[in-house]
Amino acid sequence: MKAAPADQKRLLDLAEIDSTIDRLTHRRRTLPELAEIDDLAARVARLATQVIAAETEAGDLAREQTKAESDVDAVRVRVDRDQKRLDSGQVSSPKDLANLQSEIVSLTRRQGDLEEVVLEIMERREAADAQVVKLAAERDELAAARDAAADRRDAAFAEIDKELAEVRTKRSAVAGELPADLLGLYEKLREQFGIGAAMLQGGRCLGCRTSLSIADVNRIKAAPHDEVIRCEECRRILVRTPESGL
Ligand SMILES: [Zn+2]
Repeated sequence: MKAAPADQKRLLDLAEIDSTIDRLTHRRRTLPELAEIDDLAARVARLATQVIAAETEAGDLAREQTKAESDVDAVRVRVDRDQKRLDSGQVSSPKDLANLQSEIVSLTRRQGDLEEVVLEIMERREAADAQVVKLAAERDELAAARDAAADRRDAAFAEIDKELAEVRTKRSAVAGELPADLLGLYEKLREQFGIGAAMLQGGRCLGCRTSLSIADVNRIKAAPHDEVIRCEECRRILVRTPESGL
């Protein structure tokens, strides 16, 4: 392939623009905020599940407490009723009186036991409620951190995308100046190797960092200036400049 030396040199500008595009694209893909957001989102999801479990437990305890309180009330009603009968003086038989008194004693003991149960449930419920508040606060804090990271990501994206748009405009201009066949070869090589053209500097290909043999250097020296040279190692277009050491 033949191409004017100036066009060949222009390929180096294109390669530099392309490596800027690659660098920006890589930065966009590997922003630390992306991993941070994923990590925070997973932790928020885990905490949300824990909050629901804690709320369920607190709800169960609230229902348990209501039931235990109604058990206490039922016994209290019976104690009151028995006490009224006792106070009314309507029960006269000594045996019935003894039975009534013994029932009041046992019901009062039962009421005390049930009140203990209520207290124990209240304590557990208090702890469960506190756990809900603690977990929900942790969840909200992490969600806020996640949102802040998302804001930072969006700001970084906007900055990178602005730079990418500028550099792509520059690329179109440079690519537009190049002959179609030379550009076509460059694009094909870029697709294959990431970089399509490299400078020959001091007898070395800057694409693959290989030093050329004396025979290759001599061959390139003898080649016409408009001959498009390829690196024998990496197959990239090798661009000759005054720094090439020929
Ligand atoms: Zn090479």
